[in-house]
Amino acid sequence: MTNNFHIPENHPRAESLRIREKLIEGFERGLVALAGLIAHGRGECFDYILGEKTLPFAFEAEKAAVAMMLLSKNPVISVNGNVAALCADEIVKFAKTVDAKVEVNLFYRSLKREAKIAEILKNKGLEVILGVGCEASSEIPNLSSLRRKVSPKGIFLADTVLLAIEDGDRTEALRKMGKNVIAIDLNPFSRTALWASITIVDNVVRALPNMIKIAENLRFEDRFKLKSILTSYNNCENLCKIVDFMCRRLKIFAEKGLLKPNMTSKIEVLEKRIISEIIGER
Ligand code: ATP
Repeated sequence: MTNNFHIPENHPRAESLRIREKLIEGFERGLVALAGLIAHGRGECFDYILGEKTLPFAFEAEKAAVAMMLLSKNPVISVNGNVAALCADEIVKFAKTVDAKVEVNLFYRSLKREAKIAEILKNKGLEVILGVGCEASSEIPNLSSLRRKVSPKGIFLADTVLLAIEDGDRTEALRKMGKNVIAIDLNPFSRTALWASITIVDNVVRALPNMIKIAENLRFEDRFKLKSILTSYNNCENLCKIVDFMCRRLKIFAEKGLLKPNMTSKIEVLEKRIISEIIGER
């Protein structure tokens, strides 16, 4: 923890504080950009509205995403500073489970930061890390930021790119190149969320461990089964369900006055009812 900051186990927001501390530590080690801390705050706000848990709709997207990764010829995981600081272990484990390449790609690009992120991933057991320095010698068309520079063996060649905690320009540009994009983004209204082929509205710290477990179960399934998971998934409908859940959850707070801290169990009962109504309705 930074500056020996101690988070009491019984603190009601202990997990959220631990995540913040990881990012601050990542910032101090030169992995995370200052703007990355602000981007995290935007995510936290949406996570609060979601109830800080994986919704069944997000889990469905995670399952479809794993099926897509397993079906792809050249799946690539794009890693930025926030993702490296929050879940380097999980990135390495997931990449190995679905046999994907890993590429560093940064909005605030600097060789020093790229090398630091690559070093972290290497220390976690990943042998090849693409996109560092002049290895990123190909360009994504119609993208002005430095993230246009990508590895010819990685994102440029990929049929599917998994990315998290990103703004929308690159997702749009990748989709226009004909690639599948899987985005982990807590904001269902972001351009990334709207442009992605599969949008996982979940915190990356919950999504990746879920996806590792799903991948461990699905990796030996035949392509027919994987294709059926993918074809029965509809991203647009899934996003609607998430937004529907958010609206209804906010509505019960507004109408029933559930803002007192001791109302947790009552909220949980109501949330379950909302979820089963949404699942039943469509
Ligand atoms: P867009 O251009 O796609 O509309 P944006 O401008 O909001 O997006 P950024 O400011 O780069 O993009 O923010 C990154 C996105 O990552 C935000 O949508 C935020 O909700 C999301 N985010 C932040 N932290 C997390 C996290 N831990 N897990 C998943 N998503 C996150």
